Amino acid sequence: MKILEKGEEKISFVTEIEDSLANAIRRSSLEIPILAIDEVEFHKNDSVLYDEVLALRLGLLPLKTPKTMTLQEKCSCKGKGCSKCSVQLKLQAKGPCMVYGKDLKGKVEVVYPDMPIVSLGEGQELELIAKARLGKGKEHTKFSPGLIYYRNVPEIEISKECNLCQKCVEACPQKILKRNKDKIELTDRYKCDLCEACVEICKKEGKDAIKIKPGKEIIFFIESFGMIPAKEILVESVKSLKENLKEIKTKLK
Ligand SMILES: [Zn+2]
Repeated sequence: MKILEKGEEKISFVTEIEDSLANAIRRSSLEIPILAIDEVEFHKNDSVLYDEVLALRLGLLPLKTPKTMTLQEKCSCKGKGCSKCSVQLKLQAKGPCMVYGKDLKGKVEVVYPDMPIVSLGEGQELELIAKARLGKGKEHTKFSPGLIYYRNVPEIEISKECNLCQKCVEACPQKILKRNKDKIELTDRYKCDLCEACVEICKKEGKDAIKIKPGKEIIFFIESFGMIPAKEILVESVKSLKENLKEIKTKLK
């Protein structure tokens, strides 16, 4: 395994695993419990947006997911809603102003405080109580922790047919082909996204010197929406995949 990027929000690495396993890990990210607003009680809404539209907008607002919270169905309150499984946020604003994420006051942190929610005109008021709970991405996309995607790292072969015209070097949008003395070389194959611009231009020139095929390695990308760090998305995805497999094993016993 080779790490290409390691940050709080983004991780990418190269590893040799089967497509099916990579896809299973990707899909398992939808099993991670993530905090999001799920119920909104409107007391006043003079804004141009309907209650439903505003509630949907609030639901999509990324909130930092505290590790101490539990899923409502697994909570000791049996889904009624208590401090362990739900959290309240209050919003009170009077126009003229722009209402931002940071105007939501409660015991959780809004990931992007300057995210606009709605604009209020002169004298318009907005007053609401929002309830957030943990949920899973497979239930609603507002509970998905981020983007996970992968692609095969390509293998490129340049045959002796190459006459060093260097048209492929110019054609590559990623600029990863380079002439090195009497041959064309690939400088960074992890950047290749298999667009095949080099293959096409080579064929146009009447040659067929470049061959691209998907290799054994996979390049994996994780981009967090901010509710949990990117590293945790990977760790938790693998954990939930394991849990699900364990369940099959125990049920087959
Ligand atoms: Zn509870």
